[in-house]
Amino acid sequence: MRYTSTRGGIPPVGFSQAVMMGLATDGGLLVPTEIPWIAPERLRAWSTLSFQELALEVSTLFVGEDIAREDLGELIERSYATFTHPEVTPLVEPGGVRILELFHGPTAAFKDVALQLLGNLFEYLLEREGGCLNIIGATSGDTGSAAIYGVRGKERIQIFILHPKGRVSPIQERQMTTVLDANVHNIAVRGTFDDAQDIVKSLFNDLPFKSAYRLGAVNSINWARILAQTVYYFYAWGRVSGGDPERRVSFSAPTGNFGDVFAGYVAKRMGLPIDRLVIATNRNDILTRFVETGVYAVGEQVYQTLSPAMDIQIASNFERYLYYLHDGDAERVRALLEDLRRTGRLEVTADRHEQVRADFDAAAVSDQETLEQIRSTHGASGYILCPHTAVGVRAARGLPEAVCLATAHPAKFGEAVTRAIGREAPQPPSLQGLMEKESRCSELEATVAAVKGHLEATLAAGSVS
Ligand SMILES: *Cc1c(COP(=O)(O)O)cnc(C)c1O
Repeated sequence: MRYTSTRGGIPPVGFSQAVMMGLATDGGLLVPTEIPWIAPERLRAWSTLSFQELALEVSTLFVGEDIAREDLGELIERSYATFTHPEVTPLVEPGGVRILELFHGPTAAFKDVALQLLGNLFEYLLEREGGCLNIIGATSGDTGSAAIYGVRGKERIQIFILHPKGRVSPIQERQMTTVLDANVHNIAVRGTFDDAQDIVKSLFNDLPFKSAYRLGAVNSINWARILAQTVYYFYAWGRVSGGDPERRVSFSAPTGNFGDVFAGYVAKRMGLPIDRLVIATNRNDILTRFVETGVYAVGEQVYQTLSPAMDIQIASNFERYLYYLHDGDAERVRALLEDLRRTGRLEVTADRHEQVRADFDAAAVSDQETLEQIRSTHGASGYILCPHTAVGVRAARGLPEAVCLATAHPAKFGEAVTRAIGREAPQPPSLQGLMEKESRCSELEATVAAVKGHLEATLAAGSVS
């Protein structure tokens, strides 16, 4: 399998290179040159596989010859051994609502499904080439801890995660800072999330710095993350359909960077019988407006909501969809993105807009509705939804049989849950005792110079020991 850029500016590369590259060197996102097709008989056979077996089948198609199948199987086994549920992503049906629980990994959010695998892939590929990688990222909450848990203790990887001091939830902060492995470096910057993100961007744009240290990113743009997320669409379909290729299933995905729902789109293009795919957004509704109008227009500000992992203006994976929507016409994608950069909006033609409406449903859900959904689901069945999942459940109201992706454990969002039902959700073992554990974190001014100095000093200290 070969990978190319959505902006058409690089020669095709193999899977390993695509994973290590993250972002394509022309600024675009990497996409496979073709999407594999799964025939109905094969879908039927796949429907009885375990999550890990299914992950191996799906990954083999995208990895190609780059990693021996036996090694890939071993990487997958190891990645999902950290999940506490034997089914990895179980489908439950409290009160008849179909919920696909994606939060049984080490940080109790769905990002573990992809980042546990990505960490092991990085390690494997670095081992093979004899290289090292320095991962740098900024987080407003969930991604940082999932990335840290993905690479903790890995020899050839150092990870630096910046978070805005005092502006992530106490649980989220503790999830990151209580990981004491020597390769994990938490930095609390005295500023906002945007400050932290701007610092990371400057470091990636600092060419001398970049060439001195091999920098890597773990944000939503790595193709391996999309690949890992397609697996649970296949898995859920198998559970609901019993393997009948005639049986179409709808899905609802709480959406921020468009990674999760885009994985569903890829699964559908692979031949998985998906009926409707619902993009569920909160008040930050740029994607919902796009589906309704064909215009992707950046709003005035990012609103803070009860579903903070979805408080995003520009969805980083959207570019991949634009590419497929325009049948791989990279020039068209570049022109549209140039419109977006210049004017803050882009518009697709009426024909393409019709295609968008065929591909997706969309709904924006307010905080009030989110709370109502948590309350009513709890009232009907005793089941507690996290606020992100509640957005997805609410958005799928017109599709009572849809599978709703549960993206985080409700105990991570105690405040919203308490507002809805008067108490917090019981904590899973991974979140227990966090407040009492030893923690480690450096606090820095929110300047590029301060962070750069800290990174250089830390890496220099590491290389002599
Ligand atoms: C990241 C995240 C989302 C949004 O997922 P995308 O792939 O960015 O669309 C939704 N819910 C939770 C809990 C998350 O952590």
